[in-house]
Amino acid sequence: MSDATRRVAVALPRPLPTPFDYRLDAAAATPPLRGCRLRVPLGSSEIIGVAMDEAGDDTGAAGDGATTLKSVLERIDATPILHGELWSSLLWLARYLHAPIGEVLASALPAALRQGAALPETQAFGWRLTEAGHTALPGLRAGAPRRFAELLATGERDEDGLDAQHPGWRTPARTLAKRGLIERVAMDAVSPSPATSPPDLNDEQRAAADAISAHAGFGVLLLDGVTGSGKTEVYLDAIARTLARGRQALVLVPEIGLTPQMLERFRSRLGVPIHALHSGLGESERARTWTAALRGQARVIVGTRSAAFVPLPEAGLIIVDEEHDGSYKQFDGIRYHARDFVIVRAKALGVPIVLGSATPSLETLHNAQAGRYTHLRLHHRAGAAQPPQVRVIDVRKRPLQSGLGPEALAAIEAALAAGGQVLVFRNRRGYAPVLLCHDCGWSAQCKRCDSPMTVHGGGRRLVCHHCGAQQPTPPACPQCASLALQPQGNGTERIEEFLSQRFTQVPVLRIDRGSTQTRDGLQQHLDTLGAQPGILIGTQMLAKGHDLPNLTLVVVVGIDEGLFSADFRSGEKLAQLLVQVAGRAGRADKPGTVLLQTHHPDHPLLQTLVTRGYHAFAEEELAEREAAIFPPFAHMALLRAEAKDVEPVLQFLRAAKARVGDVGVEVHGPLAAPMPRRAGYQRMQLILSSPSRAALQARLDAWVPELYRLPEARRVRWSLDVDPVDL
Ligand code: ADP
Ligand code: ZN
Ligand code: ZN
Repeated sequence: MSDATRRVAVALPRPLPTPFDYRLDAAAATPPLRGCRLRVPLGSSEIIGVAMDEAGDDTGAAGDGATTLKSVLERIDATPILHGELWSSLLWLARYLHAPIGEVLASALPAALRQGAALPETQAFGWRLTEAGHTALPGLRAGAPRRFAELLATGERDEDGLDAQHPGWRTPARTLAKRGLIERVAMDAVSPSPATSPPDLNDEQRAAADAISAHAGFGVLLLDGVTGSGKTEVYLDAIARTLARGRQALVLVPEIGLTPQMLERFRSRLGVPIHALHSGLGESERARTWTAALRGQARVIVGTRSAAFVPLPEAGLIIVDEEHDGSYKQFDGIRYHARDFVIVRAKALGVPIVLGSATPSLETLHNAQAGRYTHLRLHHRAGAAQPPQVRVIDVRKRPLQSGLGPEALAAIEAALAAGGQVLVFRNRRGYAPVLLCHDCGWSAQCKRCDSPMTVHGGGRRLVCHHCGAQQPTPPACPQCASLALQPQGNGTERIEEFLSQRFTQVPVLRIDRGSTQTRDGLQQHLDTLGAQPGILIGTQMLAKGHDLPNLTLVVVVGIDEGLFSADFRSGEKLAQLLVQVAGRAGRADKPGTVLLQTHHPDHPLLQTLVTRGYHAFAEEELAEREAAIFPPFAHMALLRAEAKDVEPVLQFLRAAKARVGDVGVEVHGPLAAPMPRRAGYQRMQLILSSPSRAALQARLDAWVPELYRLPEARRVRWSLDVDPVDL
């Protein structure tokens, strides 16, 4: 090895506890190297890693087997793409989650960059009418190209705005550009040009917006406002002031809350391009947005969970809308919580962070009560909207048709007759949750999971919602050959079938992941319905985000299973869901009604929620959590393991348990996972719990490296989940 090489530690996107050392030509090792991507050999293939430090002396040249070090194949970045606050926050995240640093760094990058693509061009472009276009416009035939030319005749448009406002604009644009009637131009630094003006904020909104803007440095503010109270208006006010100070704003929204409608509301109010990041984008668009944030060109970034990783060199404000939403937690790979991570980032960046919700998580409420967060309340709906009336409907002994009782059906009929729209909420996709043999009791179970198969396709198909397995419905019972196979219970498909037969005079639309694959599809569905009377049947896809001004009745069915779940968080989740769904009703000037159908009308959760509201429920629930020493009064980590056979899983978890030690941390298990068998794997877990986060972290620091070394670890797939949300 010659003097002309250096040694560099490279974090690889692999489940390895530490970075790997490589050799790098001195010429390629010039600083700044830390945070640059490197292409390196691994085994017989190549992989993209990130340099962990400036290159050091290649002291190994003298011996130590360092001559076996492999050489870096290529330095991809001349300057770091991960640096500053984001770099240190990611290092913190890896330590906190006890996750491999290489995997954490890789998950911060959009896939294209992770795979080694060069940083993309991020100059924003727009379109304008050429002189020839102005001349030709009056003579153009009616149709999409003419409409697009007319749009540009009112002023040039940036592509992000077009994507948000006029999806499908590219085809007419191509036609016109070919004829030289329009041209693509680079947009200079955008200056805000709002198209709509804000409503006059009410006193509570104004106080909240002022409190946010008064924060010069870090602070967490809980914006706790009932559905429809105008939280989004408060965000917009705070973002506008952030932009005016020359700062960037990051807004996190739940997966299903990021709609074209919402982006357009932001764009037209703020008057700058909104950079969206969500799962519907192509890889190159994601890389472009991320890079535009890195370069400070993206001023407002609105995204789902993974947007927590955008670089914010000029950060001024972070907002987490619907902070209680379950989609902020990543359930595989790097199990981070986007809300919790951006709180850490806001602190490192020295900027305020707003957590907004009508149903704050118990963690967040607890922090607010302890004085760690500023608690801002919006008690009333904005404008003319009234709170919905919520009634519990006892359906014991009542005749049910596809899960709907006579009161609900009568209410639907009345709402439609009055010209309103109805939402029937059932959080279960498919036709029926179970296929049962009426003669012998056999039911269709997934062969690979501990779960019944869901009946789909009006009864023709069986689908496992856990592993995706599919099969046609058997013609006869496999156990007794009887033909009496019956779908049991009601999914959204079956409710749709029933209601569309019963209410033939109005549109009946089902909205769930089966019927509506994309967020645009959902909007199209809602556009088709418009303001006419009709029925929507939906899962939680419909529980939030969409303003349906004509929705006057919400009927909630099938909540009873959620009342008696083993998961200690199920009550909280159900209460949040019910309040959010109820919040869909009566958003505008028409009053709304919510009917909750149940066989357990006296259940304390329902009683508290309906008579005293979400905050009373939260208080009771927090008291119970405190007594039981559950989160947020305890901190947990979950070690999951799975294998084809249960024996190696047990051996691994027992060996792991034996090494925890007994200082300050309680260990439970090995226990069967909530679903003990999934996709053919036997699954078990170990729960570590401590009232002290620091004590738990200290234990994990010592313990996790040992897990990698356990011989038993090689026979299982295992993962650690810090702050798990499903136990
Ligand atoms: P949230 O985000 O709390 O659900 P939004 O900000 O979406 O509430 O507001 C709900 C509705 O009330 C929207 O239609 C919005 O335009 C309207 N609104 C909000 N604030 C005001 C206000 N100060 N005056 C009049 N209308 C308002
Ligand atoms: Zn049978
Ligand atoms: Zn399955």
